[in-house]
Amino acid sequence: MMLRNLELAFIRLHILYHSGKEEVFGMGLMEELARHGYTIGPGTLYPILSKMEKEHLLSCKTRTVAHKQRKYYRITAAGESLLEKMKAKIKELYMEVVEK
Ligand SMILES: [Zn+2]
Repeated sequence: MMLRNLELAFIRLHILYHSGKEEVFGMGLMEELARHGYTIGPGTLYPILSKMEKEHLLSCKTRTVAHKQRKYYRITAAGESLLEKMKAKIKELYMEVVEK
């Protein structure tokens, strides 16, 4: 389960990053994360998105697409400042663990 915990932290960082580039939604994120080698289903992803919304890291808008309600997420100012802090930490970790 330790691997999963670490992966979930990376997944949250991906969500922060992509929601800063454009609006994101569950299905789209699942495809994007699969491309990076992360397997994540709606039962795991959707609770993460609502938790990040409750933490004010993401804002959410519901729109109707092809007669279906879809939730779109965008990064908030708080999310952006967290992402900036994490970028420094990601860089430091990368330099120590990968670059050597
Ligand atoms: Zn990504």
